[in-house]
Amino acid sequence: NKSLVWFRRDLRDYDHAALYHALKNSTQVICAFVFDTDILTQLTNKQDRRVEFIWESVHELKTALQQQGSDLLVLHGKAADEIPKLAQTLAVDTVYCNHDYEPDAMARDLTVQQALDQTDIAFKSFKDQVLFEKDEILTKSGTSFSVFTPYKNACLKTLNDFYLKAYPVDRYIHHLAIMDPQSMPSLESLGFGRTNLKQLKLPTGMSGGSTLFEDFSNRMARYRDARDFPSIKGPSYLSVHLRFGTVSIRHLARTAWQQGGLGAETWLNELLWRDFYFQILHHHPQVATGKSFKAEFEHIPFPNDERLFEAWCKGQTGYPLVDAAMRQLNQTGYMHNRLRMVAASFLVKDLLIDWRWGERYFAEHLIDFDLAANNGGWQWAASTGCDAQPWFRIFNPVTQSEKFDADGKFIRKYVPELQACTSKEIHAPWLMPPLRQQALGLMIGKDYPSPIVDHAMRREQALALYKQVSHKA
Ligand code: FAD
Repeated sequence: NKSLVWFRRDLRDYDHAALYHALKNSTQVICAFVFDTDILTQLTNKQDRRVEFIWESVHELKTALQQQGSDLLVLHGKAADEIPKLAQTLAVDTVYCNHDYEPDAMARDLTVQQALDQTDIAFKSFKDQVLFEKDEILTKSGTSFSVFTPYKNACLKTLNDFYLKAYPVDRYIHHLAIMDPQSMPSLESLGFGRTNLKQLKLPTGMSGGSTLFEDFSNRMARYRDARDFPSIKGPSYLSVHLRFGTVSIRHLARTAWQQGGLGAETWLNELLWRDFYFQILHHHPQVATGKSFKAEFEHIPFPNDERLFEAWCKGQTGYPLVDAAMRQLNQTGYMHNRLRMVAASFLVKDLLIDWRWGERYFAEHLIDFDLAANNGGWQWAASTGCDAQPWFRIFNPVTQSEKFDADGKFIRKYVPELQACTSKEIHAPWLMPPLRQQALGLMIGKDYPSPIVDHAMRREQALALYKQVSHKA
């Protein structure tokens, strides 16, 4: 019997739930990937690092399957039509894939399933990209968790070898269909151009994922102490690989679990944050449509000044750490987690701009953009989400800078205008007396912006804004 494995955000050939089940249950397995026009046409920037990352990763997966005497069929079209058509042409019994939890993807999968139903082809989908999904982790009373710490504790209680073991794809690899090598559409023919991905030295594909993880494994024990400082190599930089499944979540979590110790435990917690937001999306799908997780904060009357928003997007707010963060995002598609928190809090609580504007900007620019984590992160920063902290937590952008980039090394990298400032001056350069500015050849307000808002004042305004709606509730 024949089956088709439809790859999506799981671009690897090992420890892969759908591939394993297909190989185990069929004698001839054909693999396919679709560059989905429904998604690609929504991308207005035709030099998108994500598309290039996917293209490179698909290419590597294809090469790996060719080395097994098989291939990856790579199509370009509307996936919801292409997959049922391909399944019929190939006369397979079953289409296998892995669960996707985003509403658009789920709607697409339902369309595919319904089309396949009409031709008596089965559609089977599996948990693959998370450790726990849907209703696997619930409170004692059977409801879903909306606060991370008790959720995490419940996960850690449940976690065992069963959830962490790899799918032994190799055991049945001889069931891959033997195929002649086929070509794949070029990046250009998909309507996209090359980006600076190669210069960024962000390795793509399964090989890139394993190179990064190998490097991080040696640093995992120090993760807890290093992860908050953007100028040092603290985190794993694996988010884009988790996004596109060029690493296996089970492999990463198993390594951390077996290693133990404070560093590995802290990192495992971060992987559980990722699961947490997926289950929030599952239980509260309305968050994907711009709704606040906490209903009382649905209609905060943000003034939404477009000029302030533009300055934030460009990294021209006059607050060096925020600007460095936004420039890192614009230049590389990545932003350090500490900085995501600082930049997001600044947009909402200093610039008084609707968190949904920031969410959209991140969605367009992050190479690791993931609806669940991005929405979760933004709602957390805006205090509209599932956070145990009250809404009056407001980050001070200068204090954060002094604490997490004390010597200004990260700021200097992305805001070269401030190169000559001392590590004391660099966090609030507008405080330098005019004579000092002159001596440095750096006029604040000319060579680098004066702060576009006054933090202390805006803090009070933000508090008033939130108080207004929280009282109404
Ligand atoms: P590491 O520190 O090495 O963490 C390992 C992995 O754990 C990450 O790759 C990620 O998959 C997961 N993780 C870590 N922190 C979180 C978190 N807070 N929430 C969910 N998962 C987490 N992460 C995304 O993957 N995509 C997004 O679109 C995204 N948007 C965010 C927006 C905001 C406003 C905030 C505050 C956070 C956002 N995050 C997002 C979470 C986090 O910032 C990134 O996952 C992390 O910076 C990626 O770097 P890393 O792989 O080196 O992380």
